[in-house]
Amino acid sequence: MYCDYNATAPLRDSVKKELMSAFDLLGNPSAVHSYGRNVRGCIERARNTIADYFKTDAQNVIFTSGATEANNMILKNHKGPVFLSSIEHSSVFNARIDAQSIAVNEDGVVDLYHLESLLKNAEGTMPLVAVMAANNETGVIQPIQDVFNLCKKYQALLHVDAVQAVGKLEQETYNCATTMTISGHKLGALSGIGALIKKSDYHPTALINGGGQERRMRSGTENILGIISLGKAIEDLCHDDWHSTQHIREHLESMMLKAVPNTIIFGHKVSRLPNTIDVAMPGVSSDLQLMLFDQQNIAISSGSACSSGKIQSSRVLKAMNVDPLLINNAIRISFGTKTTLDQAEDLFKAWFGIYQKHHKK
Ligand code: PMP
Repeated sequence: MYCDYNATAPLRDSVKKELMSAFDLLGNPSAVHSYGRNVRGCIERARNTIADYFKTDAQNVIFTSGATEANNMILKNHKGPVFLSSIEHSSVFNARIDAQSIAVNEDGVVDLYHLESLLKNAEGTMPLVAVMAANNETGVIQPIQDVFNLCKKYQALLHVDAVQAVGKLEQETYNCATTMTISGHKLGALSGIGALIKKSDYHPTALINGGGQERRMRSGTENILGIISLGKAIEDLCHDDWHSTQHIREHLESMMLKAVPNTIIFGHKVSRLPNTIDVAMPGVSSDLQLMLFDQQNIAISSGSACSSGKIQSSRVLKAMNVDPLLINNAIRISFGTKTTLDQAEDLFKAWFGIYQKHHKK
């Protein structure tokens, strides 16, 4: 049972089908011959689909190797002060170690008063504010419209990492941003593809220079299959039914709380993504839980998987002022639209079994 969709989602059937016919494409999209023009056509069709989804012009969609690159592109090149929420993904957080953190409250929601005080002190310096649309560990949804209003008031730029929100939240709730990043493999497209989506009057500086592709904003021959897969996945988002997923998530949470009343679900008082549960099982470490779930062929994750495969203590939960002992007990369960109620019940049985085994007298 795969319950780690926030880490990566399976390829969509429609994307697989589209890719099967794309394997035979031949030609560099910059070439003037008909082979090249044909490939260029595929890329531009995908760009148009994505632009339509985000209600912008095609020229505002810049393909990158993923959200990590797109986040770095915006953060690395900003000349003025940078303010990042303390729960940003590491691809934002580590891109600017000189940035100032914006605090979050104990539910993991960005502190608007703190942001305003930072912006007030930086008036006239064109700061860049980065707040993600929804957190990858807790699923907590951020008040992007309110953040945007503050940025407007103090003439700051707003960057939104929308990786986990795309398809799950109405895009109108976060697309007010100056720049936004999305990632293919969270949406059922290939990994190694993502995009930066920008406002028309914002002109980012390239991070990668070379042949001048993507209107000179991202050089390198395009990842043709990746781009086609991303376009198809975005086209397919309208078929996803996240309401049922939310219902399944709520059912699992209520079973957990009923069985073990001192279970802690992080961010449970505020709006969260329909598919994400970040939950601490009292007294059982997350690495042990992960191992025992894995033995039962259930894939979940601890707060955030780091590239070495080692489990690190969650920076996000620390920022929410969670007791370190509880942080050590936290796991993340993230569902997809194909997850069923029966699977959630099986997951609950496995979870409760682990709990009971470790609390035997
Ligand atoms: N931002 C968030 C919120 C993410 O969850 C991820 C993926 N873990 C990324 C950025 C990085 O995306 P990519 O893998 O496309 O570089």
